[in-house]
Amino acid sequence: MAEKDCIFCKIANGEIPSATIYENGDFRVILDVSPASKGHALILPKEHFKDIFDIDADTAGKLFSLATEVARAMKSILKCDGMNIVQNNGIIAGQTVFHFHLHLIPRYEGDNISLKWEQQESVQTELRELAAQIRKKI
Ligand code: 5GP
Ligand code: ZN
Repeated sequence: MAEKDCIFCKIANGEIPSATIYENGDFRVILDVSPASKGHALILPKEHFKDIFDIDADTAGKLFSLATEVARAMKSILKCDGMNIVQNNGIIAGQTVFHFHLHLIPRYEGDNISLKWEQQESVQTELRELAAQIRKKI
């Protein structure tokens, strides 16, 4: 269902025009209007899901499967040297449009895009305990 006042619902469903790379019954793939690099693309489900915590596994699976095909097509046309797949959830994580979307960000030698974080120390026993806690919820 389309969410009132959601810009990506309107774009995904063709109410607002966009530079569309590909479209099928479930998804629209568009070029980002403020790209991090040449060819920066977004995959939008046509149905409104807020984020990773909201989208169902079947749709997410189909979306990522499509991402592999789009990524290969982009690499062939853009001749990029690599690609980041980014998906932000929540304000703290940098999400600005609250309709699930996957970023495909082509990377080029010397592009100076930074997605790096400072690495923290960890304790093996704590990692295993945390892993076990999360596993119980799956
Ligand atoms: P987020 O920060 O939520 O992960 O990413 C939102 C992305 O959507 C940004 O990269 C932004 O440039 C892009 N964006 C926002 N509004 C529009 C729009 O109207 N059209 C297109 N093509 N991209 C948009
Ligand atoms: Zn929406």
